[in-house]
Amino acid sequence: MKIIIHGGFFSESDQSHEIKTAKQNSLREISEKTFQYLQTHSAFDTVAYAVSLLEDDPLYNAGIGSQIQSDGVIRMSAAIMNGETQKLSGVINIQEVKNPVFVAKSLIGEDDRVLGGNGAKRYATEHGFENFSTEIPQRRKEYEAKLNNGGKGTVGCVAIDKDGKLAVATSTGGKGFEIPGRISDSATVAGNYANDFCAVSCTGVGEDIVSNATAAKIVTRVTDGMSLEAAFNKTFAELKTIDGFAGAIAIDKNGKVYHKDSYPTMVFASFDGEIFETFS
Ligand code: ASP
Repeated sequence: MKIIIHGGFFSESDQSHEIKTAKQNSLREISEKTFQYLQTHSAFDTVAYAVSLLEDDPLYNAGIGSQIQSDGVIRMSAAIMNGETQKLSGVINIQEVKNPVFVAKSLIGEDDRVLGGNGAKRYATEHGFENFSTEIPQRRKEYEAKLNNGGKGTVGCVAIDKDGKLAVATSTGGKGFEIPGRISDSATVAGNYANDFCAVSCTGVGEDIVSNATAAKIVTRVTDGMSLEAAFNKTFAELKTIDGFAGAIAIDKNGKVYHKDSYPTMVFASFDGEIFETFS
């Protein structure tokens, strides 16, 4: 049993030492809680649980800490994929929901598994998901300063459970200050992908991740026999040719945990019950 989580990017130039420490502490706490949860739950349930904890922490650009789009509105996207069934479900540009990942998870049982905009919100309301329409003051300040944060803080989790099943979930408030209607990578197979061989969650500039098909490519390469490390190296070398800004976390079927980023530090933590690793 293993888990790895990420909370987007950290760059010394635009975040303080206090925020760095706060993120390290938060990632430690969430990864420990998540590992505990995994003892009695499937990988699929566990990744949703982990991402909901990250969505509930205003330090990250997802759930309640989501960035504001150019028209002053928060729209969030999230997806979950079960490696065993190879089914993905998600919500795109959903508004006023506390935990988009739980709406995404609920959609796994539907015929229509990826919903956008008003339809996603209507589904969430009909299914009793918690409403949430408050934005955090820090995001309003960033918005008023017309700061495009370049998408730093998307969250994700990959887990392998006691039966060797893999799953992944990813959730984001988007890039910040984007054109309404813009589609993030997080609820696509480029940003979030899993099968029996490997599971991957990405963060970074969604346009780069989609152009590179990052998560789907890494998983496909591992499925076809490449090692996790080689699959990451090849995919990130391809990302470099478009000067892509991205990071990814992964676990393969043998329980190997891996992560890589193309630019400053991706904020991540992994835990297997004994070894805790995080960004420095
Ligand atoms: N990938 C997200 C997006 O482009 C942003 C991020 O990862 O921070 O919507």
